[in-house]
Amino acid sequence: MIYKLIFKLGQHLRNPSMEECSLFLKKSESWSLEALEDYQLKKLKEILRFAYAYSPFYRNYFEVQNFSISQIKKIDDIRKVPIVTKRLLLDNTLEIQATYKFKKLFKASTSGSTGEGLEFSRNEEADSFNRAAIFRGYSWYRVYPWDRNAYLWGFNFSLLEKGKTKCLDFLQNRFRIFSYEEKSFAHFVQKLRSAKYFHGYSSMLFQTAKLINERGLVLPKSLKMIKGTSEKIFDSYQEEVKKAFGLKIISEYGATESGIIAFECPEGNMHLNMEGVIVEEVDNEIIVTNLQMKSFPVIRYALGDYIQLAPRDEVCSCGRKHRILKEVIGRIGQNVYGIEGVYPSLYFYYIFKNIAKNSDLLLNYQVVQVRKGELEFRIEQSINEEEIRILRKEIEKYFEKNIRYKVLVGVNLIATKHKFKSFLSNMDS
Ligand SMILES: [Zn+2]
Repeated sequence: MIYKLIFKLGQHLRNPSMEECSLFLKKSESWSLEALEDYQLKKLKEILRFAYAYSPFYRNYFEVQNFSISQIKKIDDIRKVPIVTKRLLLDNTLEIQATYKFKKLFKASTSGSTGEGLEFSRNEEADSFNRAAIFRGYSWYRVYPWDRNAYLWGFNFSLLEKGKTKCLDFLQNRFRIFSYEEKSFAHFVQKLRSAKYFHGYSSMLFQTAKLINERGLVLPKSLKMIKGTSEKIFDSYQEEVKKAFGLKIISEYGATESGIIAFECPEGNMHLNMEGVIVEEVDNEIIVTNLQMKSFPVIRYALGDYIQLAPRDEVCSCGRKHRILKEVIGRIGQNVYGIEGVYPSLYFYYIFKNIAKNSDLLLNYQVVQVRKGELEFRIEQSINEEEIRILRKEIEKYFEKNIRYKVLVGVNLIATKHKFKSFLSNMDS
């Protein structure tokens, strides 16, 4: 098949190490948890030694923090390595970058949620390992990266960009939606019938499913995988998506600087990419170490998400022994300003989780704060008075009388820079 050939050729030129990474990851996929942790310990020591030798930042940081690599005897000793905060990472980007002469480097950049961009170089081996780890996830669904796929991302392209995008899409056997306008959307759905997988922002996957259901369009039956990235997947999204495609959205969790962290298996559990990263849960917060990226070592990095790991002995019926990430709860750090005092934005997560659990009310929500002491709760669904009362009760349980708020129902949620966020605030800026 032509697309497989194009893919293999492109991979050979761009990522020569990928074949080897894929073979390794297919083998390690069936390892025991002990074998995986042995490998992690070995790679941890390796990356620590490398960082100390070639990264001016880490050499200095380890010395100032009185950390020495000889303190690492077993995997839990990782807790002795000092934590790198996001602030520290952003302020020291140049010093973190390793001085070692790599054969091949790629530019990587991320815009970041607060608008502070990060730019660094990723060595080819690390880039290949990361891709191979993602494609291993695909293989769990019998999907090949060169299979025909539909992609949902932001759209607002200029004409030139549109041409470039179409060309790149063609090479990757990919097509995307350019508009939700009736004719163009129907054309997209028509193309979907030949696709094997469908991926992109989960809010857009949901939007598409909703339109398919509303307009009574013919369902594509060939899809093997629907993958959501970068955003929270609401339970209500799943109902709509299942109705449209007969499949649920599976999640892939990761970040540009950490690489892929977890991939959901067909049994519905997110398995950690243990060969690529070490994940710790410290005070409900994720601390991640990338074991493969030497050019820009990311070691014990506080990525900024609240997570929950399953207990070490929890096993998945799919047979893979990689540890399970129970939940990615949400972003850390955004504050909600009450009339008096400050609250964590995590409260919204609890409010909506509680009403989903206790009242079986699944809502797509967005909370907006433009003034101190005031909130706007935007709800996509049209809910009745009784349901609004349930929501109000739950809001007041957390914020008591310390906030003035409005509940708007049956409204559109706002996407900023194409990306959906459940809490929008201009208070921290
Ligand atoms: Zn599993």
